Amino acid sequence: MAVPVSAPPPYSIAGAGPAGLTAATLLARAGRKVVVHERNATVGARFVGDLQVIEDASDPRETVPAMFARLGLAAPAWVPATTAEFFDAKLRRSVVSSKEPYAWFVRRGPDAGTLDTTLLGGALEAGAEVRFRSRLEPKDADLVATGPQTPDGLARETAFESDGATRVRVLFDPAVAPGGYAYLFTVGGRGTFGCAIVRDLGGIDRYFERAREKLLSVEKVPMEGARDAYSFMNFALAPEPLREGRPAAGEAGAFQDYLFGLGMRYAISSGALAAEALLAGGDFAALARASFARRQRVSVANRFLYEAGGAFGLSLFARLAAHADFRALLAGFYRPGALRLALAPIVAALWRNRGRCAHRLPEHWCRRREREIREVALGRIG
Ligand SMILES: Cc1cc2nc3c(=O)[nH]c(=O)nc-3n(C[C@H](O)[C@H](O)[C@H](O)COP(=O)(O)OP(=O)(O)OC[C@H]3O[C@@H](n4cnc5c(N)ncnc54)[C@H](O)[C@@H]3O)c2cc1C
Repeated sequence: MAVPVSAPPPYSIAGAGPAGLTAATLLARAGRKVVVHERNATVGARFVGDLQVIEDASDPRETVPAMFARLGLAAPAWVPATTAEFFDAKLRRSVVSSKEPYAWFVRRGPDAGTLDTTLLGGALEAGAEVRFRSRLEPKDADLVATGPQTPDGLARETAFESDGATRVRVLFDPAVAPGGYAYLFTVGGRGTFGCAIVRDLGGIDRYFERAREKLLSVEKVPMEGARDAYSFMNFALAPEPLREGRPAAGEAGAFQDYLFGLGMRYAISSGALAAEALLAGGDFAALARASFARRQRVSVANRFLYEAGGAFGLSLFARLAAHADFRALLAGFYRPGALRLALAPIVAALWRNRGRCAHRLPEHWCRRREREIREVALGRIG
């Protein structure tokens, strides 16, 4: 008589962002039952149709389209970025360009064609179940992909309809975007203006207005049907990507580029690694360390150089970038070279947060930020 074999229990994933949906797609495609719990009513709820870039310079092994193809992920409606205009504090303009795309523009949010809804479609097609308005506690999840926990960096953005012109403008001015930058993108009739900062978070509205005035003084750009949003990001380094003892991918697992706050590529690739580890019973922490640890440490050193350079250093960076292939230049920044690897532990020791933090990660590194976090907690923004 045949012995009944019970099906393995479904995998539970907390969070339907890029990390959770990538993992769900790969697990479901491998024939496993997967339930993704999303606390909001839609995917991408913290975004408003804004344009973001998936950078294509940090990993020399494959381009972004090749990564999507290897993982069998449906590609969102994306637009390659091969040029940009950088402005320094005195509004001096440097035009940068690259032969191959240094990044890919995608839209974020709950609308059709965004990265979020495209990944959702792929996960559903693979057979995953996604339950909206369903919060799952990290301790009950097989994979935690719940995104950032606490504001280490803060952005205010406006998404709008624009004319058909392509504009990729970045303002590097510590006086209007402390520790960050302001950006204006118009691509395919849609646009985004944003100001991202990592200091004095309570002053976000003031910085946003100043940066907008400054960037729009270059050219008055059509902005119809504007939708505004505040959103935040995490910066931490965690040798064990765990939350409450469970594997954690994407920003929940502290996977993010410390230099510019870019997290989408990390979210997708760490979500894929987590699925691989779950399927093979492998060690996710070891896989993640091998794939990302050196690059992330180098991004801490890069951030130190970025902040230490001040307005002069940023202006120099913009002018140098205009004389190089921008993708190759970026790739050089991301490469874990000996000098930056040596600088990273010194910066980490200098900046180390020795007090309490809200990341809820086990033994990890993050930067001292109590003052700003307290300001945000007191509701001085938004
Ligand atoms: C303004 C702004 C601009 C950015 N621009 C860029 C850019 O240009 N390029 C780039 O690469 N990165 C950018 N980033 C960072 C990027 O958006 C994130 O790194 C990326 O979305 C992280 O993906 P994730 O899957 O880890 O988390 P998220 O995208 O945050 O998804 C997590 C999901 O989990 C859900 N969730 C949370 N808790 C629970 C729970 N307990 N139960 C169920 N569901 C839960 C959330 O609702 C959310 O849908 C930007 C970030 C901001 C804020």
